[in-house]
Amino acid sequence: MSIPLKLQPPPSAPAADLPAPRVDGSRTLVDRFGRVARDLRVSLTDRCNLRCSYCMPAEGLEWMPSADMLNDAEIQRLITLAVSRLGIRQIRFTGGEPLLRKNLEGIIAATSSLVTDEGAPVRIALTTNGIGLHHRIEGLRAAGLHRVNISLDTIDARRYTAMTRRDRLSGVLRSIDACLRAGMDPVKINAVVMPGVNEVDIVPLASYCVNRGAQLRFIEQMPLGPRDQWRRGDMVTARDILARLRTRFEMFEVGDPRGAAPAALWNVRDTATGVRGQLGVIASVTRPFCGDCDRSRLTSDGTIRNCLFSRAETPLRNLMRSGADDDELARAWASAMWEKKPGHGIDDPGFLQPDRPMSAIGG
Ligand code: SAM
Ligand code: SF4
Repeated sequence: MSIPLKLQPPPSAPAADLPAPRVDGSRTLVDRFGRVARDLRVSLTDRCNLRCSYCMPAEGLEWMPSADMLNDAEIQRLITLAVSRLGIRQIRFTGGEPLLRKNLEGIIAATSSLVTDEGAPVRIALTTNGIGLHHRIEGLRAAGLHRVNISLDTIDARRYTAMTRRDRLSGVLRSIDACLRAGMDPVKINAVVMPGVNEVDIVPLASYCVNRGAQLRFIEQMPLGPRDQWRRGDMVTARDILARLRTRFEMFEVGDPRGAAPAALWNVRDTATGVRGQLGVIASVTRPFCGDCDRSRLTSDGTIRNCLFSRAETPLRNLMRSGADDDELARAWASAMWEKKPGHGIDDPGFLQPDRPMSAIGG
């Protein structure tokens, strides 16, 4: 069976004629392969109220000391620099669990006044586990939030508790409904599929989302959680996910090129209810989209990562705290992005997981 996923080859050779990052830092965040970062993922905390087994160990992960974390003013300074000087057009707040960050609404409100290089307001998105979001969605929207992604891997309460190690499913479902009621469009749901754990949930979860008008995207599990838990040969691939979906849905691949968006999308019809909607698959491992990646990442302790899988980090916090001006910060940021590798290298024989777990990098 052929899978209609678009293959995005990684860039194979550096564009030798591209200039190295300019020293005044006033250019876009371009790398040596010509990719330009427009999307900044800002991790607001490494703390979380869940312990998803693909992301965090059951115990033993210490939270970052508060003094190491960027304060609100430092975050705002770096976001302002990114949008006004470095060509960033979208900010996604993540974590850990971003709803646990004090003054999230204030951080969003301050971000929403920023204008991009195109003269448009910066787009603001949130990736969250959804716990408590139903109480806050109206306030977050009023502060300037445009988009929300809620993580949900199963609608089976027993499996949700087993996967997240917390009994919080009902709160997440309330939040999804609250976001739909509030008119967030689209409400995106992220689901990671783990072998032998929640493959049976693929169809029920898809049906739940399609019939409510939420856009579900399945994500291939990546080697970013507890070490030695992920095995390439065991993983549930996009091909497996699509095969299961086709048992229940009529599926028509959306023709538009996906560009830098990681999800391949299908217009679908639930054959049991006749309801139509959209489903996506993010095949980060088996069909990497590194060649089109437009992301830069800022961790909650102020380091720049040019890739989820990067093993190098560029710390901006200490630079800021020792009095660096905006030009110096911009230059350090541009240099970090210039070094971005062509691909994540998961299939390389010498692949090594990053030192931080996903919860501390920011997904
Ligand atoms: N706590 C928030 C949440 O869960 O949405 C935001 C942070 S979480 C690290 C961001 C996203 O990363 C979630 O959608 C989560 O499912 C995904 N994620 C975490 N670990 C992953 C892994 N090993 N492979 C693929 N996706 C993962
Ligand atoms: Fe927490 Fe999100 Fe990681 Fe789950 S995926 S443990 S909710 S940070």
